[in-house]
Amino acid sequence: MKILLVFDFDNTIIDDNSDTWIVRCAPNKKLPTELSDSYQKGFWTEFMGRVFKYLGDKGVREHEMKRAVISMPFTPGMVELFNFIRRNKDKFDCIIISDSNSVFIDWVLEAAGFHDVFDKVFTNPAAFNSNGHLTVENYHTHSCNRCPKNLCKKAVLIEFLDKQLQQGVNYTQIVYIGDGGNDVCPVTFLKNDDVAMPRKEYTLQKTLSRMSKNLEPMEYSVVVWSSGVDIISHLQFLIKE
Ligand SMILES: [Mg+2]
Ligand SMILES: [Zn+2]
Repeated sequence: MKILLVFDFDNTIIDDNSDTWIVRCAPNKKLPTELSDSYQKGFWTEFMGRVFKYLGDKGVREHEMKRAVISMPFTPGMVELFNFIRRNKDKFDCIIISDSNSVFIDWVLEAAGFHDVFDKVFTNPAAFNSNGHLTVENYHTHSCNRCPKNLCKKAVLIEFLDKQLQQGVNYTQIVYIGDGGNDVCPVTFLKNDDVAMPRKEYTLQKTLSRMSKNLEPMEYSVVVWSSGVDIISHLQFLIKE
C-alpha cells in the first residue's frame, strides 16, 4: 500500500499565487479599479473569468500568459521534492487539488517536466476560446458551507479516495501539503495516521495552531515546513518505518 500525497498549488508548489501573478500581463501590470473591486467573496472563478476576459480584450495572447506563468518561481526545495517523489513513485501516489486552473497548472508541470510525478490534477477547468480569451469554469458544485462555491477540496479528496477504493486502491496514510485558508477544510478530514503539512507562517499553519490552542480535536499529526527539503525529510522518515 502506498502513501497518498495531496498538494495544493499556489504558494505551495509555486512560490506565488498564479491568479495574481498573471496581472503582470495587464497594461501597466495592474487591473482597472472597477475590475479589481468587482470580486465578491466566494465567487473567485467568476472574478478570474472577468480578469481573463479583460486581458484578452487588451490583446494579451496565450503565449504571453504562458511565458508569465512558467516564469513563476517554484517554492524552495520543491524541485528536489518532486525528484525525490519520482525516485520513490512505488511508495507514493501524488495528486494536486487547486483553486487555480487547469491551463496554468499544465503549463507549469509541462515546462518543468513534472507531469509524471502527479497521478491526477483536480482544479477549475480552463481553455482558450475562439476570441483568445482564457475561460474558466467551477470545478464542481458541493454543499460545504465553509468553502468557496466552485471548490471544496475535502469533497474532492473524499471522492478521489472512494474512486480509488472501488479500484481496490487503499492508502496507508494521507500527507496533505498546503498553505491556504481553503486547505483547512480537507485537513479536517484527516485521520489517525495522516499528516497535515502546513507551510510555516501561512494561513493554514496559523489556523491549525489556533485550533490546537483551542483544544479542538485533531486526530492527525501536524508537521510544519518552510522548504520542500523539510518535506523530503519527513517522507523519508515515513517510508523508513
Ligand atoms: Mg495555496
Ligand atoms: Zn469544504
